[in-house]
Amino acid sequence: MKYYFVEYTRKIINGFGGTAKGPIIKILPKYKDDSGLLEHEKVHVRQWYGVLALGLLVSTLLTLLVSLSLWPLFGLAPFVHQLLYKLARPYRRWCEVQAYRKQIATGGYTSNEFAVTMLAKKYDLDLSVDKARALLFN
Ligand SMILES: [Zn+2]
Repeated sequence: MKYYFVEYTRKIINGFGGTAKGPIIKILPKYKDDSGLLEHEKVHVRQWYGVLALGLLVSTLLTLLVSLSLWPLFGLAPFVHQLLYKLARPYRRWCEVQAYRKQIATGGYTSNEFAVTMLAKKYDLDLSVDKARALLFN
């Protein structure tokens, strides 16, 4: 079963070749044949599903064990990954390291330095180039 949707569009935040929001992946048309980039974004989709499942589980437990009036928590579950990604640097770092590792493993690129540069510069991760390289390749 396909668990994601891909749209090839020019409407992507400057400096990125692709994005994932929930199960929806957007990729710049010029990267249509970049299988590594697609795999990178699929990692983010799986992260979203994982956090969604956890959010639904926690909502279920709180609603059943604490108070039925907590049922609106279910509505928040789809947004927890995005919130954590935006607000929690360690979570964002973990997400991107997983995604770039997969991209490097599957992309067949002649050089993987782009991943080091992106990780060090683009995500506000407070990483040096050396630390980014160590996270990706060690
Ligand atoms: Zn990413």
